[in-house]
Amino acid sequence: MKTVNDFDFKNKKALIRVDFNVPLDDTLKVTDNTRILAAKATIIKVLEDGGSCVLMSHLGRPKNREEQFSLKHIITTIEQVVGVEVKFVSDCIGEETLNAVENLNSGELLLLENLRYHNEEKAGDVEFAKQLSKLGDIYINDAFGTAHRAHASTSVIAQFFPENKCFGLLLASEIENLNKVLTNSEKPVTAIIGGAKVSSKITIIENILDKVDHLIIGGGMAFTFIKAQGGNIGNSLVEEDQQELALTILKKAKEKNVEVHLPLDVIAAADFSNEAETKIEDIFHISEGWMGLDVGPQTNVLFSKVILDSKTILWNGPVGVFELSTFAKGTIYLGNAIAEATKNGTFSLVGGGDSVAAVKKFELSKKVSYVSTGGGAMLEMLEGKVLPGIEAITK
Ligand code: AMP
Repeated sequence: MKTVNDFDFKNKKALIRVDFNVPLDDTLKVTDNTRILAAKATIIKVLEDGGSCVLMSHLGRPKNREEQFSLKHIITTIEQVVGVEVKFVSDCIGEETLNAVENLNSGELLLLENLRYHNEEKAGDVEFAKQLSKLGDIYINDAFGTAHRAHASTSVIAQFFPENKCFGLLLASEIENLNKVLTNSEKPVTAIIGGAKVSSKITIIENILDKVDHLIIGGGMAFTFIKAQGGNIGNSLVEEDQQELALTILKKAKEKNVEVHLPLDVIAAADFSNEAETKIEDIFHISEGWMGLDVGPQTNVLFSKVILDSKTILWNGPVGVFELSTFAKGTIYLGNAIAEATKNGTFSLVGGGDSVAAVKKFELSKKVSYVSTGGGAMLEMLEGKVLPGIEAITK
């Protein structure tokens, strides 16, 4: 795996695909600079070597050159994060852009306008990728968030840099850390899969059954497994049409010697609100009209025992409606157990939108080994897919 550390960028122009698709507020100010911070190490490496950086990214989903999606809105934030003045060109290809790159000196940063102002970017157009490729000597992909897309700037472009292409430090560490779970993992390995729906996690579960010793299933999706086994789940979330599949998963897990741990009890609520009346119930016997919105105390004990006995942990998805404080306790308990295991030397990786949000909300980010930055890309890696943005660099 070639990374920026395998190159000397002295007097070289690095063309870096970053993921600066950051959220902006109504006044077009950046509200979360996490993605810019994540690319900082790669940019600094190039600059400290004595090279220059040409940064390219998309922002949002523009239909044409809509002003609100201009990357000029994030210039100040990049300057604050990286500590270097940012030059900007109002297109990502063409004469003006070529001139700006030509005039770029060592130690300087140039930001290109939104790649998605050109439809050719998402279409993976080869001619467009070729024009982009003229903007640097070495191509670096550091955009994990779009690594699962076969777009012009994320994968097609790599063919124009047969020798001079590599991963940025963020993408390299995402791959390395995911591999610590998926390929080089220390046993016992536990995956915790929570969240709302079985249907959205099915491919992940099927893929990881070959890699784990324990599978903890929590959140709304657990009820489909319970109902499929004849449980009374009241008004809890269920996907009727996924019950067969749930039983198949349980069977496959048994064949592969994977221990599946479903919740034993729940915090049942009379309605879906933070102020709802609640009671603890056995998950197989939830009262008519009530719904399980969090795991219960016996489950907390069971899940944390499994977690504390593990050497590798993957966590994707909350085990309850953590957005409402009344139903956040199970997710907090689980997060704390993972933090404790991590303190004892276990490798823990958290990834996927809502579990990352939960870890941030409950201030556990620094207490786990790694928090993945890429939602869709990380999920596709867990599904066992080869990501176009990664393959383009390695092949
Ligand atoms: P996902 O995006 O599939 O990971 O699902 C995350 C969502 O699942 C969060 O918004 C949670 O509120 C929701 N969730 C977790 N547990 C439950 C539950 N028992 N009932 C309904 N929704 C749940």
